[in-house]
Amino acid sequence: MKFGGTSVADLDCIRNVARHVKREVDAGHEVAVVVSAMAGTTNQLVAWCRAASALHDTREYDAVVAAGEQVTSGLLAIMLEGMGINARSWQGWQLPILTSNVHGSARILEINGAELIKRFKERNEVAVVCGFQGVHKETNRITTLGRGGSDTSAVAVAAAIHADRCDIYTDVDGVYTSDPRVVPRARRLDKIAFEEMLELASLGAKVLQVRSVELGMVHKVPIFVRSSFDRPEDVDPHRTPSGTLICDEEDIVEQQVVTGIAFSKDEAQISVRHVPDKPGIAAAIFGPLAEANINVDMIVQNVSADGATTDLTFTVPAADYQRSMEVLGKARKAIGYDHLDGSTDVAKVSVIGIGMRSHAGVAAEAFKALASRNINIRAITTSEIKFSVLIEAAYTELAVRTLHSLYDLDK
Ligand code: ADP
Ligand code: ASP
Ligand code: MG
Repeated sequence: MKFGGTSVADLDCIRNVARHVKREVDAGHEVAVVVSAMAGTTNQLVAWCRAASALHDTREYDAVVAAGEQVTSGLLAIMLEGMGINARSWQGWQLPILTSNVHGSARILEINGAELIKRFKERNEVAVVCGFQGVHKETNRITTLGRGGSDTSAVAVAAAIHADRCDIYTDVDGVYTSDPRVVPRARRLDKIAFEEMLELASLGAKVLQVRSVELGMVHKVPIFVRSSFDRPEDVDPHRTPSGTLICDEEDIVEQQVVTGIAFSKDEAQISVRHVPDKPGIAAAIFGPLAEANINVDMIVQNVSADGATTDLTFTVPAADYQRSMEVLGKARKAIGYDHLDGSTDVAKVSVIGIGMRSHAGVAAEAFKALASRNINIRAITTSEIKFSVLIEAAYTELAVRTLHSLYDLDK
């Protein structure tokens, strides 16, 4: 059972979580719990690190931002004990949850679930594990898994204890066809395939961290997204509650062509103008960006009319925009461009569905619908089960709702 930030936002919320856990324990289930920090806490901790120093050491960033989960895991253990349930909190280093040493976005390498299993068996003890954090194997330093990383902690713990299911309790009652806060007519999906959820998550739907879906897929952990705001006593622990199961494609009977629509405003567009149209140009541009650890996403290059120069446009995460411009500025001689244009005022809207593999023309319909709304497309990328368009940020909501209706996703 994993509970996110809004589900543990204050003591009343944590008490509610404890009642959810008690219900499952009373029903005879063996349970491990993973918790996030109280809503807003991690943001505050991140802001303090930045205010302390713009160029802080990421090892100390991790020491600070991991603190939020320590508080909620201890409080939940206290409340469970108060309800007569054996419980013990576990920080990342105590379990341990061993990770790589990429501070700020570490990867889980290994969790030994034997101790947790033994404690369930011997004394029905519920483990309350801190999400988001781990420890680096060699240096023994605290690491964190990237924002939203408690989802990944939960799926990894579930795999380590061979859980039947990993329930992600959050502030919505499942995965929707699009963000329900932006598209009021979004529908809850009963099931969604791992591959589709992977795309939705990586293209902006923050309901699950991408890495958690990858882990679920690799370790075959069924992930179930459900609401923590149901009254604990109203839920029958022996029945399937309402929510969304992330499962294998074969387990979905009625597959739609389009399953969902995601969007991200965390994008920036950069255009390199009048670059010589000759072999090696893409390497000259993207090599230095890769060296600077900047992730390039959409790329558009035209074939020049005169065979001499062309423009090349691509996107990077908005947070890396300034740095990208600096890197390209330094490489100007080597690349030989005329000038750079850029904008952070862009958004990427993506349409996802496994059915696209066997249906032609799905993207063409979208282009027509966006045109009818006067929304200009700056760049397009496609792959087997998704396509994305880059548009002006101000049109994001309109574009998402237009596409949502176009593919019959409205309720
Ligand atoms: P938690 O704190 O529980 O981890 P998050 O805020 O990380 O919760 O994720 C839940 C939020 O994800 C929802 O409140 C919702 O606004 C957003 N979201 C974005 N896209 C979707 C989607 N397709 N389905 C459901 N929720 C979505
Ligand atoms: N508390 C962390 C964050 O806000 C991890 C999480 O909530 O999943 O990113
Ligand atoms: Mg989250």
